[in-house]
This record gives sequence, C-alpha cells and structure tokens, in this order.
Amino acid sequence: MSKRIFPITTDKKQCITFIYFPTNHHSMETDFFESVYQGEPPWDIGRPQQAYMQLEQAGEIVGSVLDVGCGTGENAMYLAEHGHEAWGIDFIPAAIQKAREKAAQRHLTATFRVLNVLALHTLGRTFDTVIDSGLFHTLSDEERPLFVDNLGTVLNRGGVYFMLCVSEAEPGDYGPRRVTQAEIRESFKEGWRINYIRPATLEGRLRPSGAHGWLSSISKE
Ligand code: SAH
Repeated sequence: MSKRIFPITTDKKQCITFIYFPTNHHSMETDFFESVYQGEPPWDIGRPQQAYMQLEQAGEIVGSVLDVGCGTGENAMYLAEHGHEAWGIDFIPAAIQKAREKAAQRHLTATFRVLNVLALHTLGRTFDTVIDSGLFHTLSDEERPLFVDNLGTVLNRGGVYFMLCVSEAEPGDYGPRRVTQAEIRESFKEGWRINYIRPATLEGRLRPSGAHGWLSSISKE
C-alpha cells in the first residue's frame, strides 16, 4: 500500500510542506516529524487540549503522569502546574528541546526525555497515569501491539491510560489515519479494562473547530 501525501502549511509564511500521513502499514517516520518541528506543527496549539483540561478538572487524572508523544509538552506542563509529577517523552529532539525551554520559562518542574514509545520499557520507572494526545493514531497496525506492551511496562497496576485520537467520524481523508472504537477495543483486549470511549475533539492550529476524535480511558489490570 502506498503512502498518502498531503500538503500542509507549517509556518506563518504559508510555506507549503508535503507530508506523509500513515496508512495501515506505514507509521509516520521520524523524518516527517523532524521536518514539521522545524516550523509550527498543525497539532501544536500552544496550550493544552481541552479534553485534558476537562479530565484534570474532573479529577480523573491521578498521581504521577507520563505524556507519550508529548511534542512540545503543553499537556504535561498543564498537569505539572496542577500539582502532578509530570514527564513527557517524544522521539524528536527538537520537540523535547522546545518543551524544556517552555518549562524553564514558565518556572515549571517537568521532566522531558527523547525516547521512542516502542522503547518505553527502558525508562526504568512506572507512573499512575499515562496520557496520549495524538500519538496512537500515528502508529501502524504492526506497531500498535508493540506500543501496548511497552505501555504496560510504565503504568502501575490499576493505573489509567488516557488516549485522544482522530476517529472515523472525521470526514475526508486529510490528516492522521482514523481509529475506530473496534480497533481500540481490539488493541486493549487482554490485560486491560476499557472504562469508556467517548466522542471528543482533537483541537488543531489550522482548524479552530478541531477534528472528531475518541477520548478513551483504559485501566491496566
Ligand atoms: N502530544 C503532542 C504531539 C502530538 S503529534 C500534542 O498534543 O501537541 C504526535 C507526536 O508523537 C509527535 O510529537 C511525534 O514526534 C510523536 N511520536 C510519533 N511516533 C513516536 C514514537 N514512535 N516515539 C515517540 N514519539 C513519537
């Protein structure tokens, strides 16, 4: 299956960059993310996602938190501001560097590391909560089970993984691959309990109304 290629604007000068979005059997490569982080990524809204602010306000986010695929760290930093021990990992050094700079400017304590989510087991510690804003939908079919195994190594028993991804309700085919409820249930069918999968919005920089998504709460048994 060939890759789907779409143009996006990555900076205020309206430069057009052609980017590859993943198909079922192609993940989004580091080259793609590296080039997008040279400008302003369309997903980087410069503030936390509403869905995560609401979860925090509802008291659903408990204890220490790891943000997987944290980008420039807005969600992790929001949780640090609200008293959580917060870590973020991402495989793009430029994203982690920006996250560290923003945390320093804001006088926030948050730990950011360059790491592939398929190597989470090397992190050497566990968390009460893991959050994911737009990471799972970048993974190929082959990577999903590897990611879920790795996730299990960094989450305490009874800990919760929250995942925000683009759903099949999003029309057209621009943007990341769509993830269905059935696919989420399939990925987390053994050793996990799905608490809920709710319709949610994934906010973006290019479209203020955001994309149709799923917000999932999944506990490690
Ligand atoms: N959570 C951030 C970024 C979402 S975009 C936000 O809400 O703004 C998806 C992010 O996942 C990108 O920053 C990308 O670099 C990262 N990513 C994708 N695959 C990854 C992998 N295998 N390991 C670590 N990070 C990954």
